[in-house]
Amino acid sequence: MDGNIASIRRSQAEVAIKRLKDHQFDASYYETKEEALQFLKETIAKNATIGVGGSVTLEEMGIIAWLTGNSDYQFLDRYHTDDREKIFHDSLNADVFLMSSNAVTLDGCLYNVDGTGNRIAALIYGPAKVYVIAGTNKLTANLEEAEQRVRMIAAPANCVRLNKDNPCTVTGTCMNCSRPGTICSQYLVSRRSGRPGRIHVILINENLGY
Ligand code: SF4
Repeated sequence: MDGNIASIRRSQAEVAIKRLKDHQFDASYYETKEEALQFLKETIAKNATIGVGGSVTLEEMGIIAWLTGNSDYQFLDRYHTDDREKIFHDSLNADVFLMSSNAVTLDGCLYNVDGTGNRIAALIYGPAKVYVIAGTNKLTANLEEAEQRVRMIAAPANCVRLNKDNPCTVTGTCMNCSRPGTICSQYLVSRRSGRPGRIHVILINENLGY
């Protein structure tokens, strides 16, 4: 990342973290994904059950590779299973849930859009601890910008990634579809962590995910 952009994003992350803490989220900042991954390795208790939301950020951070086949944890592996629905349900009772966010606003909110809803269900209630990990590329000024970010970047890019037969896969912007394969069924604003500190937002000063 260009040094000047990195500088302003660092400042923006500082503002977001202060406001997230005002809203009862835990929040922390790392310069690199390696530092953030090390934090998770040192923090998550051995033998914890861990669920994950579908996320390019988690893949780019090396979290999926770290957990896959790792006998130190009970990884609820959605990627190697014949029964993904069961994994989704079991993840709601996990000790830890890891996910990214489609946007993190400077005024301290999370904004997420889901097709199935398993990811945002776990964010709202269930897992004892939720780590929301996002690159500073996902910071937006407010919820209006967050919505635009999803419509212009996050959702179309994910539709391309997943080879979805949705109009944004072709147009590159949201066309408000209601196709069977839409990834936009649920829109969630998380304004605060209802239980103080249950949701921990980790911001990393890199471009991660969409
Ligand atoms: S609503 Fe449909 S067109 Fe819009 S981003 Fe979602 S999948 Fe794409």
